[in-house]
Amino acid sequence: MGLQEQKRHFSVNLLDWYMMNRRDLPWRRHNNPYFTWVSEIMLQQTRVDTVIPYFNRFITNFPTVQALAEAPEEEVLKNWEGLGYYSRARNLQAAARQVMELHGGEMPQDKQSVFALKGVGPYTAGAILSIAFNQPQPAVDGNVMRVLSRYFLIDEDIMKGSTRVLMEELATELIPEGRARDFNQALMELGALVCTPKAPHCLTCPVMEQCSGRIAGRELTLPVKTKAKPPRPEQRLVALVEGRGEHRGRVLVRQRPETGLLARMWELPHVLAAPAAAGKAAAPLADEPAMALLAGSLWAEGFAARPEGLATHAEHVFSHIVWSLQVYKCTEQDKGSELPLIAAEARAAYDAQAASKAGSAVADTGESPISAEPKADAELPSADGSAPGTAYTESQSGSLLEHNKPLSASITANASQEVLTGKGDGLTYQWIGPEDMEKLAFPNVFLKLLRSYFAGAYDEVAE
Ligand code: SF4
Repeated sequence: MGLQEQKRHFSVNLLDWYMMNRRDLPWRRHNNPYFTWVSEIMLQQTRVDTVIPYFNRFITNFPTVQALAEAPEEEVLKNWEGLGYYSRARNLQAAARQVMELHGGEMPQDKQSVFALKGVGPYTAGAILSIAFNQPQPAVDGNVMRVLSRYFLIDEDIMKGSTRVLMEELATELIPEGRARDFNQALMELGALVCTPKAPHCLTCPVMEQCSGRIAGRELTLPVKTKAKPPRPEQRLVALVEGRGEHRGRVLVRQRPETGLLARMWELPHVLAAPAAAGKAAAPLADEPAMALLAGSLWAEGFAARPEGLATHAEHVFSHIVWSLQVYKCTEQDKGSELPLIAAEARAAYDAQAASKAGSAVADTGESPISAEPKADAELPSADGSAPGTAYTESQSGSLLEHNKPLSASITANASQEVLTGKGDGLTYQWIGPEDMEKLAFPNVFLKLLRSYFAGAYDEVAE
């Protein structure tokens, strides 16, 4: 069988299979370009099952492009909370505003205009134009490249731009006349349900008879894909600061800067304990230096708080970084408290824990830039600035900076206003209670930590 016949076999059989087996998904029930657009953005890097409830809620709350364009950003982020990759939500709203300003609220139908929308790349543009407007445009993502690599036995590295161009040309040729909408969804469906990454179901595949990859026994070795760099591990120390006095029953949270990683999301204050050596996992820091470093970091941000003990561990995975979090319960201190005193108290709390746990308190003595048994004060910036300690902090763009600037003794804890301005990077702070969880948008890991805290999960710490 020649190549043309192999292509025809693929298109005809795939389309027939799809019309019989297509999943009933909420965004497929209406031919609404806005719904298609929202679903395609949500589905990037995210499974269908996860997206369905988010999509339904999002469309209920923002049923039109106009509703999305006019919503407060905080509300949009709140509706995206837990879905990850939050820049998608911000870009989607920015693009909705573009559609309102440039296209009168109607989704444009030409490639150039769709591609010009914020957050819309070649795949999403192709998906919108084909699914919403039945235009013969390719929608080629990793799933589609996997299917085409296997079926046509293509040995090119799918991480290369030239391979993507080749795949887009091939995918365009395969679209049966007048059937772009169904065919592109059929291709996506095959990649999601049958020609899966690790265990393709060749025996039930509608195109198995002519699949060159299967015939050559290459279905498990295709596609060719150079390995992406592994995510960078980071060990971070997190403060769950309990308020006292007028802040009793509340916890300190801060909002990230306008740009960069998790822009404008709310979180618990945290600091980078140590960058891992290249190729190595981040090592947990022993409690004593961790609590001393955390006290110093909070001090640098304008808050006096005494760490009481380790509450829990958590992890947050980004595409390029993995945060391993050591979460410490801390108590707000009086405004006049001095850092060395807090550091000493942090150490005393640690010693008390160590005594009661008979030697089990030192979590780790592995490699770390900060020794497992340091003199606590030596690791911390001194109050008079004469012996600055070394901590690591994160720039707005997510890069790591070593900062060892002396901390001024004149910094006092600023904890009396509802919204507080902290030190550096234009961060803002709030003391929140459980009722505020519905108003602010948190990344998943902090959402879970705060919910656990308000449910009393860490009540025992250091008691
Ligand atoms: S026969 Fe197997 S390898 Fe080929 S397209 Fe179908 S599932 Fe994929």
